[in-house]
Amino acid sequence: MDCIFCKIVQGEIPSAKVYEDDKVYAFNDISPAAPTHVLIIPKEHISSALEVDEKNSSLIGHIFTVANKIARDLGIDKTGFRIVNNCGEDGGQTVHHIHFHLLGGRSLQWPPG
Ligand code: 5GP
Ligand code: ZN
Repeated sequence: MDCIFCKIVQGEIPSAKVYEDDKVYAFNDISPAAPTHVLIIPKEHISSALEVDEKNSSLIGHIFTVANKIARDLGIDKTGFRIVNNCGEDGGQTVHHIHFHLLGGRSLQWPPG
């Protein structure tokens, strides 16, 4: 499958790894929008939030526990952070392998543009 995030999981495209286990891979975003900008993805290819169902939803819960651990490890747990999932065209999704942005290290504005 021609998916850049599957290629990152497989090591075919280099990335700056932040965390890895048997189900999840996390790496620094190539174009950071904040001092901390980590992408957390399942190793399994799931296209978007629209593909989350009862069979794979425990994986999404696991991703949030991983985000929690990374936030603590990178020292943004006390200052706060944002976890973002963009879905579809209006949501601004550009890579069609589900991913969660973990953003922190500065005060983030709301609402998004
Ligand atoms: P989206 O816009 O789909 O929510 O987020 C995709 C993210 O992937 C963007 O923030 C973009 O900078 C990041 N990205 C795209 N290609 C690569 C890549 O090859 N390596 C890394 N580390 N990040 C990437
Ligand atoms: Zn993929």
